[in-house]
Amino acid sequence: MLEGTRVLIIEDEIKTVNFIAMALRAKGYKVTSAQTGQSGILSFCTSNPDIILLDLGLPDMDGMKVLEEIRKVSDIPLMVVSGRKSESDIISALDAGANDYMTKPFSMGELLARVRVMERFISRESVTKSDAVLQFDGITIDTDRRRIYVDGEDVHLTPLEYKLLIILASNPGKVITHQQISRDVWGYRESSDAKSIRVCMASLRKKIKDNSPTPKYIFTEIGVGYRFADK
Ligand code: CA
Repeated sequence: MLEGTRVLIIEDEIKTVNFIAMALRAKGYKVTSAQTGQSGILSFCTSNPDIILLDLGLPDMDGMKVLEEIRKVSDIPLMVVSGRKSESDIISALDAGANDYMTKPFSMGELLARVRVMERFISRESVTKSDAVLQFDGITIDTDRRRIYVDGEDVHLTPLEYKLLIILASNPGKVITHQQISRDVWGYRESSDAKSIRVCMASLRKKIKDNSPTPKYIFTEIGVGYRFADK
């Protein structure tokens, strides 16, 4: 398994959530959960999960609608975990973009095995496959330990800020477009969300002390994207 793979469980039955969360945490996964469809979509946008487990019978909206909303913007690995057992339910969910479908009740061994299958869909490798340590003047990025040092000082980044920095710093001198950033950092399929990128970039620049009018590391290519300084 990847280090600290993040799983979001969208499920209204607390017992089921606790049952799954406990088993996943015991295996080193980081787990967040949401008990409604709306809070699930919000959590998907804000907590940056790697995998989603989705119930269909939710109190505020049908899980199929949640699936459709998420698939409009992202290819994140998603498995439906539902009490609905009919062939037509399963086919509809798979056709709507679920990567897998598991019916309740299920055994924990099977759930964990299927989550491992979901992990193979995670495209995180495309972002982080690079030298273990990226070294620039004044900034060191240790990708094995997921740590950033600016002028020798340990800097804490959110997962999105980290991914954003990695995609740029592992391509020094190369322009990375908004589109690529949307796809590789946010997992969005087509549209790029320029505002989210701007906000995240501003926060990242502040943290790595690169927010002056004459940046040292990250340069803006207006209307195109960003470029990390050449080594
Ligand atoms: Ca339910």
